[in-house]
Amino acid sequence: MNKVLLISFGEIFLKGKNRPFFLKKLKKLIVIAASCDETALVELSDNRFYIRDFSEQNLSKIIERVKKVFGVHSMSVALETSKDLASIEIACIEAAKEPAKNMPTFKVDTKRADKNYSMKSMEISAHLGGVLLDKFQQLKVDIHNPSFTVYVEVRQENAYIYCERIMGPGGMPVGSSGRAMLLLSGGIDSPVAAYMLAKRGLEIEAVHFFSPPYTSERAKQKVIDLAKIASEYCGPIKLHIVPFTKVQEEIYEKCHHELLTVIMRRFMMKIAENIAQMNKCSALATGESLGQVASQTLESLYATNSYVDMLVLRPLVCLDKLEIISIAEKINTYETSIQPFEDCCTVFTPRHPVTKPKIENLEKNEAKLDVEGLVKSALEETYTIECLPESK
Ligand code: ATP
Ligand code: MG
Repeated sequence: MNKVLLISFGEIFLKGKNRPFFLKKLKKLIVIAASCDETALVELSDNRFYIRDFSEQNLSKIIERVKKVFGVHSMSVALETSKDLASIEIACIEAAKEPAKNMPTFKVDTKRADKNYSMKSMEISAHLGGVLLDKFQQLKVDIHNPSFTVYVEVRQENAYIYCERIMGPGGMPVGSSGRAMLLLSGGIDSPVAAYMLAKRGLEIEAVHFFSPPYTSERAKQKVIDLAKIASEYCGPIKLHIVPFTKVQEEIYEKCHHELLTVIMRRFMMKIAENIAQMNKCSALATGESLGQVASQTLESLYATNSYVDMLVLRPLVCLDKLEIISIAEKINTYETSIQPFEDCCTVFTPRHPVTKPKIENLEKNEAKLDVEGLVKSALEETYTIECLPESK
């Protein structure tokens, strides 16, 4: 009898002709998650991933990491045994031993992947229920509301027995939907956007604009820290850092102040679009949410959107702040996001920003700037940092 980590994936989206592609991506991510144990082996067969040969003290670490792999539906620490009924009985007794100590009722839930097995699922459950009742005299069966369940999966090669199912994050394997360039600030929203995009299978690269000396080294470090935390879910994130001071100063000097924020955002989008194209990303993404601030009205979003050709994804557009915060807490970015460091957007905030900018007004103001030159020099000064989870 072996102890294995049995992993099931969201089978609905894994149907059809993309299946081998999805599974290859998913396997790679699970292998990375299991790499914290030198001897652990990941195998895909018969609709499940199996992690074997790990050392016991690394098991909870592996589980914590697999819990962050999108595409994983659930996992269980299972006893692996041969499919003869006597072996399954022994494994069931072993699996139920601990929960039977302090839980009064149970049921057996059997699934047969091997439809040629000599007994039907219901018969197997009934038989094993009887075996467990004999062994643990204080236990009772409760089909509808058991205090624990003994799961039995009779698969093609072996049978698997476990009592606990640990939920994975769901979603689709990172990289299976393509790659997007996320505008990442040090705020609460954009790291949550990273998580949501990754959940739908997008690989993320990020671009951050900073404006020394108006914004500090510490503010930039905060963004790097956020990218590292997000990378636990998203995989390694290439973070492109763009010095933005010159652009902001030019806009401040030459443009109408109530348009500062929108024009600055248009530059951010334009520069991000260039970096996205250079890095083969098929979409831009932001953490914008409709109506949150003056720059996030429909008119302002249109003004930034229409300045670029690339598709712009806004995964938070219809969430309210409390919903966003609760995701930020779940993915552990919140505490870092609320550290009080300045962002380049807040440094040059106009006192009375327009909420409904007119495109012709923006264009009239931008005509006073050397847009191409400013974009080009920002791109020349951009540098890239690879962000990985801290523990790796
Ligand atoms: P966030 O919490 O993500 O900063 P926010 O509610 O504070 O969002 P804004 O500061 O207006 O809103 O930013 C809106 C979006 O613009 C951000 O979600 C992010 O995608 C992008 N953005 C803002 N500042 C920067 C920056 N310095 N570098 C890169 N992207 C930025
Ligand atoms: Mg912000």
